[in-house]
Amino acid sequence: MDATVAVTSVEEVGSDTYAIRFDTPDGFAAEPGQFVKLGTEIDGEPVSRFYTLSSPTTEGTFEVTVGIDVEEGGDFSRFLADIEPGVEMSLSGPFGDQHYDGEGRVVVLAGGPGVGPAVAIARRALDDGGEAAVVYRDDDPAHGARLDDLRGSGASIAVLGGDDDLSAAVTDALTGAADEGVFVYGFADFVDDARDAIEAAGGDADDAKVENFG
Ligand SMILES: Cc1cc2nc3c(=O)[nH]c(=O)nc-3n(C[C@H](O)[C@H](O)[C@H](O)COP(=O)(O)OP(=O)(O)OC[C@H]3O[C@@H](n4cnc5c(N)ncnc54)[C@H](O)[C@@H]3O)c2cc1C
Repeated sequence: MDATVAVTSVEEVGSDTYAIRFDTPDGFAAEPGQFVKLGTEIDGEPVSRFYTLSSPTTEGTFEVTVGIDVEEGGDFSRFLADIEPGVEMSLSGPFGDQHYDGEGRVVVLAGGPGVGPAVAIARRALDDGGEAAVVYRDDDPAHGARLDDLRGSGASIAVLGGDDDLSAAVTDALTGAADEGVFVYGFADFVDDARDAIEAAGGDADDAKVENFG
C-alpha cells in the first residue's frame, strides 16, 4: 500500500542510530523482517530508501531503526538523523519475503542497522513462545536496552566487535533443530561473512532468510 505517515517518536538507541516510530496507517500490516520504502523531497527532488521493521508487530504503531554511516551514508540517512515527531513521509510496502514466519527457534545474524530486524524477530519469537538467538556485529553496538531485555527473557545474545570473526558465535547459536529458522540482515560485507559463518558451522546458507541492505 501507499500512504503518508507522520513520525510519532524518535529515540536515539546508539551512537548515530535512531529508532523512528510511526502510527500504523489503516490497512497496513507487516511481519518483522519485512521492509518499507520511506520517501521525502530533498532539494526539491523525491528521494526514498528501504528500511526494515524493528518492531515485533505493526499493531497500533510500527518502527524502523536507521544506522547513519557518517562517512559512507548519503542524503536520506542524514535527513532521517535530523527528523522530529510530526514530520511526514511517504510510505510504500510492506516488501520482502525474508521475514519471521512463526519459526519455533530463530537465529538472527545482524550487522550494523541489521540489529533492528534482529530485536524485532527475537522479541516476536519469544512472545510467540519460541526461542531466540542473536549474533550481532558492530563497531559501536546499538539497542543495548532491548538486547538486555531479550537476554532477560531467555534469548541467547552475542555482541561482537566490528572486526570480529562470526564463526564461533554462529556455531554456538545454530542447533540444527527442525523448526530453526536462520535470518541474516545487514550491508553486503556482513551478509558475505554471515553466509560463510553459517557454512563453517555446518549449516546451509541457501536455507537462510537473507536481506542485503546494499
Ligand atoms: C531491503 C533493504 C532494507 C534495508 N533496511 C535498512 C534498515 O533497516 N536500516 C538502515 O539503516 N538501512 C537499511 N537499508 C539501507 C537504506 O535503504 C539506505 O541505503 C541507507 O540508509 C543509506 O541511505 P543514504 O541515502 O544515506 O545513502 P546512499 O547514498 O543510499 O548510500 C551511500 C553508500 O553508503 C553505504 N552505507 C550507508 N549506510 C551504511 C551503513 N550504516 N553501513 C554500511 N554502509 C552503509 C551504502 O551501501 C552506499 O554504498 C536497507 C536497504 C535495503 C535494500
